[in-house]
Amino acid sequence: MLQVCDVKKYFGGIKALDGTSLSLGYNELKCIIGPNGCGKSTLFNVITGAMPPTSGQVIFKGENITARPPHKISRLGFGRKFQVPAIFNDISVAENVEIAAMAVQTKKSLWKTFSQKIDYTTFDKHLGNFGLTSYRNSLAGELPHGLKQRLEILLLIISEANIILLDEPTAGMSQAETLETAELIRHVQKNFLTSVLVIEHDMHFVRALNCPLIVMMKGSVVCEGVYETIKDDSEIKKAYLGEIAC
Ligand code: ADP
Ligand code: MG
Repeated sequence: MLQVCDVKKYFGGIKALDGTSLSLGYNELKCIIGPNGCGKSTLFNVITGAMPPTSGQVIFKGENITARPPHKISRLGFGRKFQVPAIFNDISVAENVEIAAMAVQTKKSLWKTFSQKIDYTTFDKHLGNFGLTSYRNSLAGELPHGLKQRLEILLLIISEANIILLDEPTAGMSQAETLETAELIRHVQKNFLTSVLVIEHDMHFVRALNCPLIVMMKGSVVCEGVYETIKDDSEIKKAYLGEIAC
């Protein structure tokens, strides 16, 4: 579904990406790990068109989408989650969901925005699956941090994203919320046939995700494998895992 081919991104003398290549299949979940400053967020910026690469290509469903503007890449079905939840704080949880449902119609035709009827059965099911039913009428801004992150992931699903990029989704979460988020991401991948690429630091989360890991260092991918294999690689341990209690 997604291929990143030998992507380089230089900021003057800083080689944020120095020949990164990776791939993600349809309905596949992979997690990118690597020390601070190794280029993970820059990679998401290049994939989503927020920054053009210095060289290299991003291929999506066989099409070269390198350096297309972000709104065009978003329309292909990309959903991106940043560290700070992108939700509307001053309206209710239900209204946030309604807006996302309307926005997806706008992508298809402006007229549909005004003429469409919301399917409340699906709507309630979504809120239930994401543990948000009892917060339906709460102001989104007043949700606990973990539930805000949860709501944002739900908004991506409602927006019909078929490939989701999550940059450190558990930042600021308690350990219980972190493990719930891992479960939620697995739920999303299984039940909505979504492909998911997650950047994460938290090793409890990475282990709970139980998916292939892509290890990045100094702007490129150094290895790929499941946690159990990677944790025994002495170079990776020294360079990365050792930084974090795991
Ligand atoms: P990570 O997400 O792995 O922590 P980043 O992708 O944020 O790393 O950063 C990789 C390197 O690129 C870092 O050295 C960072 O300082 C640099 N960098 C990232 N964005 C910019 C930018 N817009 N301008 C200059 N340097 C940047
Ligand atoms: Mg980052």
